[in-house]
Amino acid sequence: MKIICIGRNYVDHAKELNNEVPKQPVFFMKPDSAILKGNKPFFLPDFSNQIEYEVELVVKINRLGKNIGKKFAHRYYNEIGLGIDFTARDLQHECKSKGLPWELAKTFDQSAVLSPFIPKEEFDDLNNIEFSLQKNGEQVQHAISNEMIFGIDELIAYVSQFVTLKIGDMIFTGTPAGVGRVDIGDRLTGFIAERKMFDFEVR
Ligand code: ZN
Repeated sequence: MKIICIGRNYVDHAKELNNEVPKQPVFFMKPDSAILKGNKPFFLPDFSNQIEYEVELVVKINRLGKNIGKKFAHRYYNEIGLGIDFTARDLQHECKSKGLPWELAKTFDQSAVLSPFIPKEEFDDLNNIEFSLQKNGEQVQHAISNEMIFGIDELIAYVSQFVTLKIGDMIFTGTPAGVGRVDIGDRLTGFIAERKMFDFEVR
């Protein structure tokens, strides 16, 4: 199982990090050892002074596929969840400034928070999924899926040109604006519409 993450998929987030709005999706991966689920606490690692949350819709792949056409992409996933792509922003900036890959900043243990998944039939409109994140009870990120630069089907088509998608793989679809740091004692609560998807503490 692999976790594919999309970077810079919302215009307002690309701008807040002073990145160009991409013409093609940007992706990277996290290992399965990064998964944190079941509302277990996130333990702040000591190798970074700036761990930031990024709330993202997560798509779960349910069919093997390579070179998937955009119009067939909807057949390759059947569940949607919510996740956090924890990022060591200080290490990411350091890697970027040296022209190095960002692995250090993205792949560490517990950096892929996952909620339970919802069957996609339960959504009226996949282009209109509202999701948000609260930090200590205050909303810090909010978006609707149609604000993505590249939609879910486009992402599946693009990524599967390079990487075969397998059953159980997950795609983190990118974060909207509002990313920010977490500190010990913070509580992060994620929602899809009104539905609470995860709720955990930073320790
Ligand atoms: Zn992200």
